[in-house]
Amino acid sequence: MGLMPARIIPLHDDRSLAVAMSPAAGPPSLPLADTLARPLRDLRISVTDRCNFRCGYCMPKQVFDKHHEFLPHADLLSFEEITRLAGVFTGLGVEKLRITGGEPTLRRGLETLIAMLARLRTPDGRVPDLTLTTNGSTLVKKAAGLRAAGLKRLTVSLDGLDDAVFQRMNDVGFPVATVLDGIAAAQAAGLGPIKVNMVVQRGVNDDQILPMARHFRHSGVVLRFIEYMDVGTTNGWRMDQVLPSAEVLRRIAAEWPLQPLSHSAPGETAQRWAYADGGGEIGLISSVTQAFCGDCNRARLSTEGRLYTCLFAHRGHDLRALLRGEPVDDAQLARAIAGVWTGRSDRYSQLRGTAQAAAEPRVEMHYIGG
Ligand code: SAM
Ligand code: SF4
Ligand code: SF4
Repeated sequence: MGLMPARIIPLHDDRSLAVAMSPAAGPPSLPLADTLARPLRDLRISVTDRCNFRCGYCMPKQVFDKHHEFLPHADLLSFEEITRLAGVFTGLGVEKLRITGGEPTLRRGLETLIAMLARLRTPDGRVPDLTLTTNGSTLVKKAAGLRAAGLKRLTVSLDGLDDAVFQRMNDVGFPVATVLDGIAAAQAAGLGPIKVNMVVQRGVNDDQILPMARHFRHSGVVLRFIEYMDVGTTNGWRMDQVLPSAEVLRRIAAEWPLQPLSHSAPGETAQRWAYADGGGEIGLISSVTQAFCGDCNRARLSTEGRLYTCLFAHRGHDLRALLRGEPVDDAQLARAIAGVWTGRSDRYSQLRGTAQAAAEPRVEMHYIGG
């Protein structure tokens, strides 16, 4: 399959939001559950659709070239709007906030947003888990400031240790050493535990699995291997490019014996394994070969304020229109969000390969957030 032109899909369904917002709908009953009895626990917030990398599996250069139009600044949710929505989500059961993008550290003043989000509390007074996913390119400069603003931990994406492989994957010639320096800066700033995400593509970087495992053993960093996914419409995904997690596990275990660990939290995406010799742990995110929709508790807020209830959704709900329209109070926003969540039935990964899944358009990952 060739590369497809980028399509940002601005579909939304304001009818459901309007109905849910009416006072007659009453306060949402908590805990919220969707139609498959899954709670809402995790909110991923995309703060920019821009990126300084052009990873072929996410923003292929041929599509996201100099003619591609990114969102104008006025269309982005402001920090105040993001924080207000995050507060409402926290009131509805969200315990984990993940800042993502695009490359989130490119959003000017991100530290200010982190500081605003770090002040949020759950209804019973707990501090939500606040984290960030980054390509690591700016961490040498930014790690200490992010930590000072209230960030506790982060995830860095890194697809290999070999410069030729990594530069081919980020497609802008970005060197491995700068990302490794960024990880070291994050550790030095006291951010932790640090996770490293590696997307594995068969024949592209699967020769990096063992070098990456060797490098991060005994480092305190948790390395996680992600199966290459068919997100968006532009990456030309093919099943034969997916290296199943079972194969990743087999290769690592042949070198260093592994023991299974239990899931750390319900809805956790990674299967966790520990090196038997005490070298730390790894994670396997098998979104393609072992779908984990059954306990998926994640919502996503796009850069321009649309709420998506699945990474593969074709429709977002326009929360920004609510924020910028007739004045609404937080209780109304909560009813609107609850209405979306309680109507949710997404389980794309379980349906992958079916006619139903193939027929639906999908939103791009850099816009919705990974
Ligand atoms: N730019 C940041 C970064 O790369 O960490 C944050 C955004 S990125 C979209 C979030 C995560 O999604 C990254 O770990 C990235 O590797 C992953 N990702 C992007 N496209 C993917 C795909 N097609 N399959 C699997 N993971 C993907
Ligand atoms: Fe950028 Fe992250 Fe997508 Fe790579 S995966 S193109 S770093 S947003
Ligand atoms: Fe959740 Fe959708 Fe991924 Fe399934 S496919 S785990 S519902 S985000």
